Amino acid sequence: MAVDSSLPSPLGPPACEKDAKALQFIEQTTRNADAVQETVLAEILSRNAETEYLRRYKLGGATDRKSFKSNLPVITYENLQPEIQRIANGDRSPILSAHPISEFLTSSGTSAGERKLMPTIQEEWDRRQSLYNLLMPVMNLCVPGLDQGKGLYFLFVKSESKTPGGLLARPVLTSYYKSEHFKTRPYDPYNVYTSPNEAILCPDSFQSMYTQMLCGLLERHQVLRLGAVFASGLLRAIHFLQLNWQQLAADIRTGTLNPKITDPELRGCMERKLKPEPELAEFVAEQCGEENWQGIITRIWPSTKYLDVIVTGAMAQYIPTLDYYSGGLPMACTMYASSECYFGLNLNPMCRPSEVSYTIMPNMAYFEFLPYEPNSVSLDPTRLVDMVDVVVGKEYELVITTYAGLYRYRVGDILRVTGFHNSAPQFHFVRRKNVLLSIDSDKTDEAELQLAVDNATKLVLEKLNASVVEYTSFADTKTIPGHYVIYWELLVKDSAESPNSESLSQCCLAMEESLNSVYRQCRVADNSIGPLEIRVVKSGTFEELMDYAISRGASINQYKVPRCVNFTPIMELLDSRVVSKHFSPSLPHWTPERRR
Ligand code: AMP
Repeated sequence: MAVDSSLPSPLGPPACEKDAKALQFIEQTTRNADAVQETVLAEILSRNAETEYLRRYKLGGATDRKSFKSNLPVITYENLQPEIQRIANGDRSPILSAHPISEFLTSSGTSAGERKLMPTIQEEWDRRQSLYNLLMPVMNLCVPGLDQGKGLYFLFVKSESKTPGGLLARPVLTSYYKSEHFKTRPYDPYNVYTSPNEAILCPDSFQSMYTQMLCGLLERHQVLRLGAVFASGLLRAIHFLQLNWQQLAADIRTGTLNPKITDPELRGCMERKLKPEPELAEFVAEQCGEENWQGIITRIWPSTKYLDVIVTGAMAQYIPTLDYYSGGLPMACTMYASSECYFGLNLNPMCRPSEVSYTIMPNMAYFEFLPYEPNSVSLDPTRLVDMVDVVVGKEYELVITTYAGLYRYRVGDILRVTGFHNSAPQFHFVRRKNVLLSIDSDKTDEAELQLAVDNATKLVLEKLNASVVEYTSFADTKTIPGHYVIYWELLVKDSAESPNSESLSQCCLAMEESLNSVYRQCRVADNSIGPLEIRVVKSGTFEELMDYAISRGASINQYKVPRCVNFTPIMELLDSRVVSKHFSPSLPHWTPERRR
């Protein structure tokens, strides 16, 4: 689409010519949302007309919405498993996409305990980059002067593996940071990072974090914004500073680099930046040595105007802690994206976290919306509506059709319409379906938690003639890193043999071993989740919990034990009945290779 940057932008006066173009692009694309969607669908269907998938559904080359909607089923990842497996095993025929699958992006959503594999094509990077290119122009409308300093962002690459057929499988951001789009990005004064590429690309998470923090400290007066992808990541960085400030200050004082930084390229890069700076070292030691870390972010980085982190969805649980460390700095949630597809951006990024709405960009994919009905058992595909037809106030599940070959694919996110920007809808992210517990990028559902309890029972408790009568769970984010807490009420048949502390610790580990690979990766490789905790409660506690729910109006016939709790009075009741606490004694098993 040709963009006329000379037109005034309704979003506000752009900071520079490049921004003017980006803002005009947003205007034109959202104004013509329906036409853009029609074109996107026609492009996807025509280029992929000869794929095995589209031929199966007998579209016969049709590219219109009506044929598409009447011929193609609405699917989930599980429906696509056979096709994905064939591609992973090396079948290079055009199964889903006419363009070759360049790699798999590994989602933090799991299927049968392993990350979902999302096929992607090379060209998708241009589309994702086009969304990234809109973020700073929008931010510049809200925060002037961002070209006068830098961003301290904690960005990391994660491990990658190869499928049996030789395709790379790695998280979308790992792929992005390793791509030329990122590594050789043109200089943009509004988007300069303190972290050098060598630090971001270092696969060792300690060395990467250490050097990114060191760069942030060295350039503390230049830092205008501070961020990570998710809130949990930024808190992990603060915790890292708590653990490592003495060594960091020593490096700054002497101008010599911690010998634990062994990556040769990274060492070379850091040694060029370091020189003895005793005053700065003293300042860091003085600030970090204080017991009270309230407002530490603005004390160390006094020019910070906002935090750039996602605090919507599951990440909202971190807002109070981030407020504490930042002295209430604004938190900007800039974009909404996934491994499957990048969806849209927040056009009002300095709004309060509870008011964040993401505007879906119609050029990214073809979007449909399934009205959300929690209790419906069957899916009626005629109920799906197009982007321009969603109704303000209603909740929908997002369904996408992408250039890379996902057709009418249910992402699993529930969104509420808050309004429109021109004719593009804006959504509040309500939640991801079926997620019970989440600390970092992990997502544990009810079935996975049940399986973990069953396995711990089988492996440990049964031998002791004990069982779990009832249980519930809680994501404890007061500790850094956060951890899962499982409340157990036990039935002990032989009190002489009741499970001792060691057996209950083994139960914690057995549960962790059963949880999905994203959970275990967070525990083992990222250190972003702490050891799982079991709190044994007195016998009769769950009956009291039921009495409490009924006293608040729950129906006695329909009452079910909630498998996850976070309502303060319930937490207080449970905690007041705890008889013992147990933690996982070691790390569960995890390797980058998939189990299947
Ligand atoms: P992944 O497939 O691992 O890339 O995770 C993508 C998922 O993360 C999305 O489908 C959402 O559930 C969640 N997510 C991404 N961006 C946001 C956001 N801005 N706010 C809330 N949740 C988000």
